[in-house]
Amino acid sequence: MAMPFHFVPGIHPPNPQADNESTGSAWWFVFIGRQLVLQQATLTPLQVRALAPLGLDARRTQYLGQLNGQPCYGAELPEDSVLPPQLVARELRSLYGVLANDWLDLAGLAFQILEWDRTHQFCGHCGTPTQAAAAERAKRCPSCGLSQYPRISPAMIVLISRGDDILLGRAPRFRPGMYSLIAGYVESHESLEACVVREVQEEVGIEVANIRYWGSQPWPYPHTLMVGFTADYAGGDIVVDPHELTDARWFAKHQLPDLPSEASIARKMINWFVGQS
Ligand SMILES: [Zn+2]
Repeated sequence: MAMPFHFVPGIHPPNPQADNESTGSAWWFVFIGRQLVLQQATLTPLQVRALAPLGLDARRTQYLGQLNGQPCYGAELPEDSVLPPQLVARELRSLYGVLANDWLDLAGLAFQILEWDRTHQFCGHCGTPTQAAAAERAKRCPSCGLSQYPRISPAMIVLISRGDDILLGRAPRFRPGMYSLIAGYVESHESLEACVVREVQEEVGIEVANIRYWGSQPWPYPHTLMVGFTADYAGGDIVVDPHELTDARWFAKHQLPDLPSEASIARKMINWFVGQS
């Protein structure tokens, strides 16, 4: 969508009384499971005043902020919802390259906030129903005071190079022939750099050096933050952990196998490396 995109996050929806009736529509990021509901004709998110006139009965709604001055909501529909013919539901991951990145990021935010809302209805400590905090995106327990915030799980992903070669591995869940970078979740009380060293050692048995930050990408399935690093090969032979990978090997950068989607940080890092002289 070639339109300006200015999103200001917020937790308090605009006051209905103060709403200008003529500009009362809102952006709705509506999900059925992991599928985002879009206008069939334009494959854009819904821009309507409310969902009920479309026959949609949201199980939960979360205000997200203002997009181009209009209120913006995430909403979750029951799994058995039937959409009117002008709407279509698409898996969020399939929309990379269909929706612009800004819109995908906002859809990912909506998905994560809805997921957090759904899974934090009760206090994790004492089981009392939680209440929305007034001044921040949090759920507070009225009984014991515990606050629960939207969770973000950091994971590292690393491009290991040896000259012009890149180390790539194959996880069992990958489509046939596809290889990608080594990645793994950060453990409690572990630095990102230590995570890189540990995961590489565990999954492929080699040592790395010169670990440098490359960039990051939110990955809302359901709440991962992928943190990308580059590293140089520093020793050892590849020994694949059969619980994690079915294969790992060095590939010349101009003879690469099938790779992950262009939308993924893995692919962006590989493309970046290949583009280096
Ligand atoms: Zn509690």
